[in-house]
Amino acid sequence: MNVLIKMAEWQKIVALAERVPELEKRIAALEAGRNPPKSKFSCAVCGAAAQVVSEKPHPTFHPFGDKQLTVKCNNPNCGVESTRRFNPSEG
Ligand SMILES: [Zn+2]
Repeated sequence: MNVLIKMAEWQKIVALAERVPELEKRIAALEAGRNPPKSKFSCAVCGAAAQVVSEKPHPTFHPFGDKQLTVKCNNPNCGVESTRRFNPSEG
């Protein structure tokens, strides 16, 4: 193999290596789409996953260690916020 062919092969390898971060990003995006993060809360209105946006002691049940969580629907067409009673010891 002459040196010029070796150089051409090497450049192909370098070009592939440079694509790895881009490919990794695309794989991560695909995996995120396939396995959306699990949420233990769901929207009371549309049933989509809801995300905790704030936490404070529950106004009534705080002596038992309960929290009041405000959760916001992840569905951009809904976005309803509601509250949940949550006891960390119950999980
Ligand atoms: Zn919703």
